[in-house]
Amino acid sequence: MTHTDAPATDPLAAHKACELHVHIGGCFSVHDLIELATPWYRDIDWSCFVDAFASAYGLRPDPVEWFDRAAAGELDLAETIRHHFVFTEADGPDFARFQAKFNLLIAIFRHQIRHVPGGEQEGPRRALEHHRLAGVRYVELRANYMRTDDDEGFLHFHRLNAEAVRDACSGGFEARYVPSLPRAAPGPAYDLLRSWLADDGQALQPWILGVDFCAVEEGFPPCAAADMLQRIHGDNDADPACALEILYHVGEIYFDKSLESAVRWCHEAADLGARRLGHCIALGLDPAAAATRRGGSHERETVTERRQQIDYDLAHRQGLEDAGVEVPAAALQTEREQLRSRDGDVLLHRPYDEHRFEQVRRRQTYALEQITRIGAVIESCPSSNMRLGNVPSPALHPVHRFIESDVDLVIGADDPGIFASPLRDEVDWVANTTHLTPKALAERLGDPLQHRLGRLREGVAQ
Ligand SMILES: [Zn+2]
Repeated sequence: MTHTDAPATDPLAAHKACELHVHIGGCFSVHDLIELATPWYRDIDWSCFVDAFASAYGLRPDPVEWFDRAAAGELDLAETIRHHFVFTEADGPDFARFQAKFNLLIAIFRHQIRHVPGGEQEGPRRALEHHRLAGVRYVELRANYMRTDDDEGFLHFHRLNAEAVRDACSGGFEARYVPSLPRAAPGPAYDLLRSWLADDGQALQPWILGVDFCAVEEGFPPCAAADMLQRIHGDNDADPACALEILYHVGEIYFDKSLESAVRWCHEAADLGARRLGHCIALGLDPAAAATRRGGSHERETVTERRQQIDYDLAHRQGLEDAGVEVPAAALQTEREQLRSRDGDVLLHRPYDEHRFEQVRRRQTYALEQITRIGAVIESCPSSNMRLGNVPSPALHPVHRFIESDVDLVIGADDPGIFASPLRDEVDWVANTTHLTPKALAERLGDPLQHRLGRLREGVAQ
């Protein structure tokens, strides 16, 4: 059954038609890869895929042989590509494996971009077309330019994507574009983008509504991006017609720190004015389940992180205590003093017990209430969190905790191609695993379009 056969009365239809968390690179299907690679498979440099796959899975695939054998009728190409590309729960929540499978796409698209006339437009064009065909009526697409040393390439990449988005808007289908900034050095990329938007890129401004912080979050605390985010808010205030709202992936993969710190990061990102927060698994996954993952990694964190946690607890003492969290101020101040002279990179070890788990649950409640008050929106991505985010079971998926809270919430597919799960399936997954009826779920979520970007520009002459 295709979406067009879906009953018009589906209470979740609006949620299946509004995609607010998706990356262009994650949109391509097995069929796309076959179509794009078939004419060129002997010329494609497959090494980035083969090497990454060998190190992640211990097997060295030979894509040229796949295509040769498929042409001779000896192999099911779609099945072989699916096996080496679609990332499922059977792969385990292992980012190296995800990257290895993603590199199959990278090898094919690199060739497309560098050697095939018109190949550069193929990616965004297909990503948009997939959404249109799947019945999506509004999509905000994000994309991250991998290199950080190539200003010209950065602008060219985002310009092509924004043009594709502009050109796709017709017949009731609307799309917008959100460039991702590199977490390690967002400032120069942001400056480049801003100055381009004020100059050569001005005509594309109506389609570029925000910036996104994505990819590996460990090592990049929101507090380190505070100046950057302040600068973006300042620029938005000075020129609302060109406002760029902030999308921020946080609390997705956080094995480098305690569960308390991971909760705090989500709260901090909202506090810093991010309009929407990607994933926030840390706010919704039960701490007892979270703590057992990866050999109890959450028991360890750096002195720096612990100091920041103490500062947070002291600053939020009243609110935390109201939520039932113990904040022993004198003991925390003493600990803070003791940590003052220590190397910030040293790892501290603090084991969990049932009491501490219960305290983390209350911290989650507090942070969710604060995010609700601030008005930031959580974007929850079911398959992505199950397969990459180390969520151990559907019942433990953070989306259920979010549904129980009052936080503004949307459902996104994140990478519908490599997860082989389009938005409508993601929404159905939530409907099938929550205790709410589809109608009650739709009422709880409200109109997803209210959470799209662009509100800062409303009422301002472009
Ligand atoms: Zn994402």
